[in-house]
Amino acid sequence: MLGDVNLRDWDACSDIYCRRCLEPVFRPGQKLDEDGICLPCRYADSFDQIDWAARKHQLHQIAENAKRQSVGPYDCLIGVSGGKDSLRQALVVRDQLGLRPLLLCCSYPPEQATERGARNLSNLVRKGFDLQFVSPSPTTWKEMMRIGFTMHAQWTRSTELALFCSVVKTAVTMRIPLVILGENPALAFGARTGSSGSDAEGFRQYDTLAGSGIDYWQDQGIPRNKLIWYDIPDTDVCRDLGLQMIYLGYFMKDFNDIANTDHARKHGFFPREGKDAEPSYTGSLNPYESVDEDFVHVNQYLKSVKLGFGKVIQQVSVQIRYGTITREQGIGLVLKYDGKIAPELIDAFCAYLEISREEFQKVEDRIRNKNIWRLNNEAEWEHKYLPRQDDGGQT
Ligand SMILES: [Zn+2]
Repeated sequence: MLGDVNLRDWDACSDIYCRRCLEPVFRPGQKLDEDGICLPCRYADSFDQIDWAARKHQLHQIAENAKRQSVGPYDCLIGVSGGKDSLRQALVVRDQLGLRPLLLCCSYPPEQATERGARNLSNLVRKGFDLQFVSPSPTTWKEMMRIGFTMHAQWTRSTELALFCSVVKTAVTMRIPLVILGENPALAFGARTGSSGSDAEGFRQYDTLAGSGIDYWQDQGIPRNKLIWYDIPDTDVCRDLGLQMIYLGYFMKDFNDIANTDHARKHGFFPREGKDAEPSYTGSLNPYESVDEDFVHVNQYLKSVKLGFGKVIQQVSVQIRYGTITREQGIGLVLKYDGKIAPELIDAFCAYLEISREEFQKVEDRIRNKNIWRLNNEAEWEHKYLPRQDDGGQT
């Protein structure tokens, strides 16, 4: 089941990291062009040539179309976690497009959710939105997370399914004609899936959803009647209802982590604080990201074990691309924090899933990518391809 561990011979690659930012070729689907530059950097290069007025016009047309199609109290639906991106999406959609959005939150079980996440959702509601919660059974939720982790080292496989399912299913059930997602992962960080435009229907092919069907979960012994919030309506059903799904990020020049963080700061957002905001504790630089639960950091750590890169690489790459730090500074941050995690977070994750640290270690050992990691003389795992200041990057 772990056949997707990336076993390429990276020695044969002329460039491991984008010469402009630090996006690695380890990311599934990431390709550098003949000059060693990644797609998100090339996309950012093209910003001055993009006709943003035309895109804005297109977005307004989509909004007007949704208003015409709408048969109920809502014109569009936005899946929200209480995070910075969903805060911005909700305000843009209502205040700039004049749409009547329903916000939908597929909430984490109480054991997993943070107080901070709840405060951010309250902040959103206080701005005058209707918010609907979907709370799948915590028992099934945990069981599926445990399967996702032990079988694939990817606990988010089921939770992301619930996240997308709850959005699409609610839009279909309530006949809401438009679903608005935030960033297009293909353009934002060069992910294999997504699309090169505004259409978000390709979400079904996301790696994290692994095919997006419930058959796998039934095969794992989860009864069908427990999978209501994991069973995404078929494409045909969505098409027949005229449901359109778009990435708002495609239409906005400044829809990125930096601008969305600034926006959150100005709109009452509660970031991580104290130890919870320490990059050495979380393996993440931005206290305005991933505020609603902590296990996401365990996922990023496992990604680093399996694919050779964590969250910090993605974060510094955005910052380098938009000129808020230099590539040299980015390399320094990657060497210091990428793939790091506090043992307490792994302990909390094991306690929640009711597994031992030994079981966790077994999964970690199983997915360790030996083409990227090697044991050093101190019997510690060492990354073979860490970025270097003299790697030919452009500053
Ligand atoms: Zn790049």
